[in-house]
Amino acid sequence: MDGQAKILIIDDSPADIHVLGGILGKDYQLFFATNGADGLDIIMRERPDLVLLDVLMPDMDGYDICNWLKADRLLRDIPVIFVTALTEVSEETRGLEAGAVDYLTKPVRAPIVKARVRTHLELKRHQDLLRQLACLDGLTCVANRRRFDELLEQEWRRALRTAQPLSLILTDVDDFKAYNDHYGHLAGDECLRLVASTLAAAVKRPMDLFARYGGEEFACLLPETDLAGAVVVARRLVAAVAELRIPHTYSGAAAWVTISAGVASIVPGEERSAIDLVRAADTCLYRAKKEGRNRVAC
Ligand code: GH3
Ligand code: MG
Ligand code: MG
Repeated sequence: MDGQAKILIIDDSPADIHVLGGILGKDYQLFFATNGADGLDIIMRERPDLVLLDVLMPDMDGYDICNWLKADRLLRDIPVIFVTALTEVSEETRGLEAGAVDYLTKPVRAPIVKARVRTHLELKRHQDLLRQLACLDGLTCVANRRRFDELLEQEWRRALRTAQPLSLILTDVDDFKAYNDHYGHLAGDECLRLVASTLAAAVKRPMDLFARYGGEEFACLLPETDLAGAVVVARRLVAAVAELRIPHTYSGAAAWVTISAGVASIVPGEERSAIDLVRAADTCLYRAKKEGRNRVAC
């Protein structure tokens, strides 16, 4: 990843930028800014993996920029290395307290810059990986419940702002206890993996989130989608699993593995919360089960 890592250098002195650019330009994709405002623009647009930040600058100085970054939930994980001519212990401390991961002093020396940059990019890569893993379900490798809860809140708030409908499909594998009982738990796991990947592939828009909600239940969150649209997706999900024709002799719904789906759609209002959407979808799922399984209820 080092080859593609993005580094932003913010320094009001073009000469200093030139020096750092010369040291790092061969190995990384570099971006430059000579003031804080431009720097923040680039950070929001490019999401760099690392920022090299000069401390002394007119207008917004390095501490201001660093504080600003660390206060933003989406940007605070971007590591910042201060680069400065200041060598006072108090200055260095202040930089580290502002949230910088490291400190380089001018005049910079190429091997030191390269080594520190490499180290911090490596740490960032590990952190990103961990964060990703924390959002994935271990068995099926789709998004997990934690991720779902997070995004549900986020999408709810967004839909509240934009006054757009937010839809949710809850699905549950039919008679899955019987599947486990007769084919064994390992076969059950394998079945869940296949169902999950099939469902995930059937959810197509980039904004949609597909997640394992729990046990043999999967959820599909569809932003900016009304009930009619969500029902179309839900039917596609139910059909996709049935078409796998995974034998299930002990199911009351069909001779193969099937799912039931409950669909709900809400235009969020202040008097409601995301839980209401989940509750509504769950009620519909219960109805789909009662009406015979292998079907959609909304
Ligand atoms: P219904 O059609 O009403 O949904 O019936 P059901 O048997 O699917 O419902 P129930 O909730 O009673 O059973 C769910 C089963 O799913 C029980 C549990 O053993 C199984 N299950 C949940 N998580 C896993 C898993 O990770 N692996 C396996 N193999 N089975 C699981
Ligand atoms: Mg269940
Ligand atoms: Mg079930």
